[in-house]
Formats: sequence, C-alpha cells, structure tokens
Amino acid sequence: MNFLDAVYNAGVVGAGGAGFPTHLKMTKEVGTFIVNGAECEPLLEVDKFLMREKTYELIKGMEIIAGNLKAARVVLGLKKKYKVEIKKLSETIKELDSNVELFLMDNFYPAGDEQIMVKDITGKSIPAGGIPLDVDTVVSNVGTVINVYEAIEEKPVTKKYVSVLGEVNNPVMLEVPIGTSFEECIKRAGGVKIKNYAVIEGGPMMGKIVHRDELAEKAVIKTTGALIILPEDHYVIKRKERPEAHILNESRAACIQCRMCTDMCPRYLIGHKLRPHRVMRAMGMGEQDEEILKEALICCECNVCELFACPMGISPKSTNTYLKGVFREKGVRYDGNKEIPSEHEMRDYRKIPVNRLIARLNLSRYYNNKVADLQELKADKVKIFLSQHIGKPAVPLVKEGDRVIEGQRIAEVGREEFGANIHASINGVVTKVEKSYIEIDGMV
Ligand code: SF4
Ligand code: SF4
Repeated sequence: MNFLDAVYNAGVVGAGGAGFPTHLKMTKEVGTFIVNGAECEPLLEVDKFLMREKTYELIKGMEIIAGNLKAARVVLGLKKKYKVEIKKLSETIKELDSNVELFLMDNFYPAGDEQIMVKDITGKSIPAGGIPLDVDTVVSNVGTVINVYEAIEEKPVTKKYVSVLGEVNNPVMLEVPIGTSFEECIKRAGGVKIKNYAVIEGGPMMGKIVHRDELAEKAVIKTTGALIILPEDHYVIKRKERPEAHILNESRAACIQCRMCTDMCPRYLIGHKLRPHRVMRAMGMGEQDEEILKEALICCECNVCELFACPMGISPKSTNTYLKGVFREKGVRYDGNKEIPSEHEMRDYRKIPVNRLIARLNLSRYYNNKVADLQELKADKVKIFLSQHIGKPAVPLVKEGDRVIEGQRIAEVGREEFGANIHASINGVVTKVEKSYIEIDGMV
C-alpha cells in the first residue's frame, strides 16, 4: 500500500502538541527529516521511554519516512543527558547499519520547540510565522514515528503511552486504550496522596489544567502524554488559573518595561521579531498599535516570559494568547517579514537550564521521582472523542448497539480533508454516539 494511504488509514496525527494529521504533513520532498526526542518540558517521560523500549520501531520508522520524503539527512534530536537512550539508539543504529544521525543537545528549555530544534540542527531559523518546510525540513516526534511504523504494518492508532506523576502514590508509565478516562489513569497510579489537587494535562510549562470534577469526563486522546497531579495551591496551578480580566488589567498597568520577557524569549533569540515587552507596552497604551500587537501571533506560548523571566509576576504569554484570539476573530494573520532571520548574538548565554527552571517552578520534589515500569491498563469502557487535534472532527461510521472490535474504523475523514480517522480502542458494543464522542462498553 502507498505510504501516505497507510498513514491516513491508521489515523496517525502528531503524538504531541496540536496533533497535525501526519498524512498531510509528509507530502513534499525535503532535504532534512528531524525527529524531536528532546522532551524538554520538566517531568515528561514518554519519549525517553519510547526511545529506550521501542528503539527498533523508531529507527525503522525514521528510515521509512525519510525514504518517502527523499530526505538525505535523517536526524534524531535528543539531550546529551539521556545516556541510557543514547546507548540503546547507537547500538540499534549500528546493528541496522542505519543512516540515522543522533544530534545531542544541552539540557535547556525549550530545546524541543520545533523551531529551536530546526535552528540548532540545520543552522537555519525558520521565518517568523513559517513552518519547517520553509527551510526544506520536516519535523516529527518520537511517538508519531512509531505510529507511522505501525501504520505500515496496518496497525491503526488505538493506544497511547501516558505518564502519571506528581502527587500520586505510585508514579507510573501506562499503556492505555485511547478514550480511557483520566480518572482511571490516576487510579492506576495508586490514586492521589492529597485532598486538594489539580491536574495538568501535558507539561508544567505548556500543559492545560484539568479540574477534579472533569476527570471522569476527560479521556486520553491521541495527543495526551502526561497527567501531572499538583496541589491546588501550587505556584504553577495558581499562575495558570488566573482569570483573563485580571491578567489583562495587570498587563496594562503593572509592566515596568524591564524587557526581561523579550531578552529571554526563545523565538526572539532565534531572530524573530517578537518583543513581548513592546506588546505589553502597546497594551498599556490602549491597544492602538496593531503592528506591534500582531507580534503576539508568532508567540509559541512556551511560557518562558511568564513563568520564568518576568520579575513582576505578570503575564506576557497569556496576553499574547488573548491577542491571538482577538486577531483570529477579526481574521487577521501574521504578515511580517518572511526572510530567514539570524539568531541573536547572546542566544547561547540565555538558554534556560532545566534545573533552574524546575527550581523556579517549585517542582524539585517531583523531579527524578521513580516512575514505575510500563503497565498496561485494560479499560472496560472508553469515550473516544471525534475531535482529538486541530482540524475537522471525524464523522461516525457506527451506531448505538453496533459490536466493534479493536482497530475497527469507527469514524473517518476524507482522504484530502484536514483530519484523521478514528478506530475502536477496545472490543465491545457502541453505547453512545454523540456529537463529540463515541462510547464503547467492553463489558456488554
Ligand atoms: S510565550 Fe513568551 S517567551 Fe515564549 S515565545 Fe511567547 S513571548 Fe516568547
Ligand atoms: S518582564 Fe514583565 S515587567 Fe518586564 S517588560 Fe516583560 S512583562 Fe513587563
């Protein structure tokens, strides 16, 4: 079967981030194919686990993708400190006589930002508002490549690896059917040790808060990678919970224009015209200067400015998020300079060491916590969302009462549409087909 058809059939999307449909991303020939194994957010574990335990599938998957992209250079970017993973990967590359190259990075945040990784590996900064294709490159991540390898073997995406850690009794790496509730995942980690807690889906810098009363309803999707449980009054939770009106009032009134947010901004440092201190100034001046405010459109929301740099504890990143929403509603897109920029001369000195970031975020007590080896969670019931990533929701192919088997396509999008197919993740009976999800009961 054609490579892209196999990836489309299997419903592969980017296994982290926005979940871009993979069959639409890998259509052009490029010079370089990069796999992002940096896993730069503190506390995340899944990519390291996959690089250790699914090494063969990862290297073979990279070769398959690179072959289809006709990429001459095939690179896996990861951190120098991942000694065990580097050893295993190097041995496998040698055994397979593979042309995959390992690119070893320092332990800084955000080493795994797609644009930062492209800059460090190719030496070229992607133009502001651009994508890796602009510099003849495609970037994917570890989980996605393994899913592509399985797609070629005609195995659709039905499972996810999810680490559950923080204030749980037994931090653990789980293999779970897509659609398993967050509540089930946390139960399998031995439950929560404290009474008042909140959950971050994803990493502490860019992840989203899930409240306790949402845990039974929220379920693992194709982009879920971690559930981090923290006390409700933890610094990171409190910062992420601030109401938008409060954030915007502070932005307009409390910024002292020290420009630390700009000087530490990773996108500014690779040469993009993104100056959050000027955006904040424009906010304070009555939001008149649209040209400056539009710089918010090229913010990657890494949160360096807000959770690390700003001495006043105010929120440039959240202000940018707000402005993006305003521009989206008006249909305004970034139309700045598309030339390939040069990095700032101080960039190397302003990379944020992860240890310092962890201390600043008050996460030291969770760092290096032992995460138990992989456990398989067999869910009795799953709730599979029809929209699990950017793009179009899939259209159901089943109705209530249908019996389905794991791997069966239960919702689909057209081959050229911006979306991905969805498959049953357990054997069972369809008990609900709602506008936003399909529920399967495995006990019926
Ligand atoms: S969140 Fe802040 S530091 Fe990160 S890219 Fe946006 S402006 Fe820059
Ligand atoms: S770091 Fe904070 S106070 Fe300084 S310019 Fe940026 S938003 Fe204003």
